[in-house]
Amino acid sequence: MGFNNYLPTRVISGKDCVLKYNFTKFGSHAFIVCGKTGAVKSGLLKDLEKTLKSQKIDYYIYDEIEPNPTAVSAHLAGAMAREFSADFIIGAGGGSAMDAAKAAAVFAENEKLTPPQIFTTKITDALPIITIGTTAGTGSEVTPYSILTYMAQNECLHKKSVKSPLLYAKICLCDAKYTMSLDWETTVNTALDTLCHAIEGIYSKRCNDMSRMYSLETVRVCWSMLKKAYWKGVVEKGEISFEIREKLLFASIIGGYVINITGTSYPHTMGYNLTTKKGIPHGKACAVFLSDFVRRMSPFDKESTALLEEAIGEDTLSEFLDAIDNLIGNILVLSDEEARSLAEELADSKALTSAISDITIDDV
Ligand code: NAP
Ligand code: FE
Repeated sequence: MGFNNYLPTRVISGKDCVLKYNFTKFGSHAFIVCGKTGAVKSGLLKDLEKTLKSQKIDYYIYDEIEPNPTAVSAHLAGAMAREFSADFIIGAGGGSAMDAAKAAAVFAENEKLTPPQIFTTKITDALPIITIGTTAGTGSEVTPYSILTYMAQNECLHKKSVKSPLLYAKICLCDAKYTMSLDWETTVNTALDTLCHAIEGIYSKRCNDMSRMYSLETVRVCWSMLKKAYWKGVVEKGEISFEIREKLLFASIIGGYVINITGTSYPHTMGYNLTTKKGIPHGKACAVFLSDFVRRMSPFDKESTALLEEAIGEDTLSEFLDAIDNLIGNILVLSDEEARSLAEELADSKALTSAISDITIDDV
């Protein structure tokens, strides 16, 4: 047993925790980073405005963030935050809004930093960040990552992560009421992201006893809840109750703890490619590779595999993986040439060697 884990975000959860939170300790100017939909539809923006007004905090709402945010958008948000003399940044929305908020917090404090430089420069300053999620999947609320899209020299879009301890939110506020407005598809896609975090973590070279514990609990909670929305090939796109959503949100937060410790593996890296090249939502795009990943890695750590099967509950591992594939459905067919070209983007990536058994481009 040996740890070197750092999970510094204070996580406050519960009904109306945004309305009850005292934001004044962070200053008098709040800069809210969000997209056009999530923060509004969920009611989060309304709650934030009400709370900030009552605490006499000036705020600016920057709602220009797109799904899979670009480094350029985050840079613009950061410049606005600086102009507004923001004391702190609130990332309000799904993983996209929260990731953009984290990068904006860096750009606000580093006037000369250009969008491409955020990927290559050691981050030494950032405004304090508060994260409030309206999806349940990324765990971005509690991670030190900001995943940004950029245009590479070959004029193709790529996703890349920026990592720094300064990207950890100081505070994360979790209220599942903000996820009630999510449609069935996005709820399932984001839950698949949670499962990928947990399972990629189990088979990571960096897995330790603590991350494994989070992984197993993430799978146990997330899968038992997801099964209520889906069961053995029968997709029932029914209402998803608050109780289920609360547990999915909990699972996504502890799934975030997993990737803080272990990082992710090739399902995520390949998932980034499917998102940027084929427009497939993040969680679903990563889950496309999940069953192959588990089938490949499981023989190399039989003990963890047995624990994973236990966490899955009454389904066998194989039934679970088939159910994940069923949930994804037939989303795309790639030509051999296209598949190889996407796989080759992993050539120098850690994704090939981060799991307990290395893989090759041919495998991918
Ligand atoms: P998202 O892109 O943030 O949101 C998906 C869609 O749902 C958007 O159109 C969004 O609209 C809308 N939406 C969000 N909340 C809603 C709500 N409560 N009601 C109705 N609509 C809502 O999706 P996500 O899966 O949460 O985040 C994906 C991003 O996170 C990807 O870029 C991925 O790479 C990243 N990620 C980050 C980490 C990390 O550790 N930092 C980990 C995993 C994934 P608006 O955008 O208009 O609000
Ligand atoms: Fe993810």
